[in-house]
Amino acid sequence: MHIVIIGSGVAGVSFAEKYRALSADDDITLVTREHDGYYSRPLLSRGFSKADIEQTIILKPFNKLRENNIKVLCDAEVTAINRADKSIVILGGQALQYDKLILAQGSSAFIPPPFRLYEKLFFCLNSLSDLKALRRFRQGFLDQNQRPDWAIVGGGLIGCEVASDLAVAGDKVTVFHAMDRLMERQLAPEDSILLLKVLQNSGVNVLLNQAVQAFSREKDKICVKTEATAGFDGLIVACGFKPRNELAELAGLETGRGIKVNQQMQTSDTSIYALGDVAELPNGKLYAFILPIRNQAIWLAEFLAGQQQGFWTPPVFTTKAKVHGFEAVHPYNV
Ligand SMILES: Cc1cc2nc3c(=O)[nH]c(=O)nc-3n(C[C@H](O)[C@H](O)[C@H](O)COP(=O)(O)OP(=O)(O)OC[C@H]3O[C@@H](n4cnc5c(N)ncnc54)[C@H](O)[C@@H]3O)c2cc1C
Repeated sequence: MHIVIIGSGVAGVSFAEKYRALSADDDITLVTREHDGYYSRPLLSRGFSKADIEQTIILKPFNKLRENNIKVLCDAEVTAINRADKSIVILGGQALQYDKLILAQGSSAFIPPPFRLYEKLFFCLNSLSDLKALRRFRQGFLDQNQRPDWAIVGGGLIGCEVASDLAVAGDKVTVFHAMDRLMERQLAPEDSILLLKVLQNSGVNVLLNQAVQAFSREKDKICVKTEATAGFDGLIVACGFKPRNELAELAGLETGRGIKVNQQMQTSDTSIYALGDVAELPNGKLYAFILPIRNQAIWLAEFLAGQQQGFWTPPVFTTKAKVHGFEAVHPYNV
């Protein structure tokens, strides 16, 4: 049997390693557009206070997987799934046959439609290549003994984490948040107040109830337009995530917010499974956190190796905002 996996995040890599541990004979090919190896996505939001992050973020070079008899095609963008002949197509035209296909393409940053016009004016922090681009931009200021002045649009988990890390690294940061409290979807109101104080104490300027309308470039500043207009050196949009459904949609698989799967992680095609940020369970939920994703991937590897029966059920888990100096009093909503 040939198992093909698309994506080298925690979902794809955990599945590949577990399946290899359970089955020495089947062929496993992991196809990924990444170049640097399997990296820790949560560590992206510590990307400014840690000088050696571009090395330490790598959890496993692809050669380590290859040594484990997992074939890895890196720098390889999958552009189509042909369900009729059970193959995928890689940019450049190469086709690869599969018996079972595991979709683990993760998620991209969600860009609210009104902001899409201005995509050249802002950064996101969703991948290692995003972090490298942000670090290069920031280094330009440091090389001239300057500190960039940042605007971050979005006071959710990632916006708060990045704001905190940039402030700890010594930059000036303003957060624009649409709601009347930070991380309102995850935190109890008193924890939002605590978080606000922690960020303010680290020098972050937090602006709540901000309806950001547009961005523009004025000379060397990027302007954020709300009721007033303010100029910054750099702009980061952190407004949530969007599962990468596109390949599945083009192939005619059932999708909703993510790729729809049953409780055995199987899509509407019996040869194709989905895991991680991209998978939407029958209860409508996406389990977009490391712990449940690893659990899903291991469950599916055991299931396909004939060592697991029944259905995947999510483990009990909690999460934590990696904001320097912040500990919530109440458990988070995840
Ligand atoms: C800044 C940040 C901080 C976070 N902090 C935490 C945290 O503290 N705790 C926590 O539990 N979770 C955290 N998360 C969420 C967590 O990182 C994700 O839920 C998890 O990484 C998703 O794993 P995945 O394998 O599904 O997808 P991903 O990690 O996104 O991996 C998908 C892979 O597929 C590849 N790919 C996509 N499309 C294609 C294609 N067409 N062809 C080839 N390759 C493709 C991508 O390049 C990528 O390597 C954070 C996320 C971010 C962005």
